[in-house]
Amino acid sequence: MNMTPERWAYTGHYLHDVFGEEPASFARLTEEAARASLPTISIGPEVGRLLQILASSTRGRVALELGTLGGYSAAWIAQGLSPGGRLVTLEADPRHAAFARGQLQELGLAASVEVRCGKALDVIPELARELGPESLDFVFIDAVKMEYPKYFELLHPMMAPGGLLVADNVLGAGDWWIDDEAHPSRREVDRFNRKVASSRDYQSACLPLREGLLVARRTGA
Ligand code: SAH
Ligand code: MG
Repeated sequence: MNMTPERWAYTGHYLHDVFGEEPASFARLTEEAARASLPTISIGPEVGRLLQILASSTRGRVALELGTLGGYSAAWIAQGLSPGGRLVTLEADPRHAAFARGQLQELGLAASVEVRCGKALDVIPELARELGPESLDFVFIDAVKMEYPKYFELLHPMMAPGGLLVADNVLGAGDWWIDDEAHPSRREVDRFNRKVASSRDYQSACLPLREGLLVARRTGA
């Protein structure tokens, strides 16, 4: 069976059709984000539900997201937290952060989700001091693709044994795909993928859903 562009597009539509159900309030968030001219680069519902399932399969006490945008993926992750669990999501653009805060408030998630404005590489060390080592049950990486290897380096000591590290766009993003071997983002994401996959501290897999999701479980629990 050969993969053709048509077959790949059909597959994407099929997955969206069968697995892409979402709460009406989440669909509204997406509509309002488009109205507010936020970039249309958020995950879809088929990935969102996967994030919820994965987050809920951990202790679900402390979660971290890099790259909030309008808060769509944060809303899904928050559904997977344990009662009293908390998500911190980092966003460099103050306009995106403010939009996401408003939306999460409307969804009734303001108490469990904190949107922190700042660049991930600046804020992660702050959070490491605040939260302490081995504190993160669930991480979703979706900020600057060039920085993925550095994110992994900084986050590794913060991962709880049994915690899950998930990364979006590990097979591609808007302007590159994993076969564009010379693209700088592709190079760094490839470095990240290989680093996680070869680490003895993680069991890793990659799902070619949408633009590719890496799922890695910190061993030792
Ligand atoms: N996770 C979101 C999409 C994130 S898009 C969702 O699926 O709903 C990537 C976001 O990362 C953008 O909002 C962008 O402003 C933000 N960003 C860019 N550089 C960043 C940085 N250095 N640190 C944190 N966020 C950054
Ligand atoms: Mg993404």
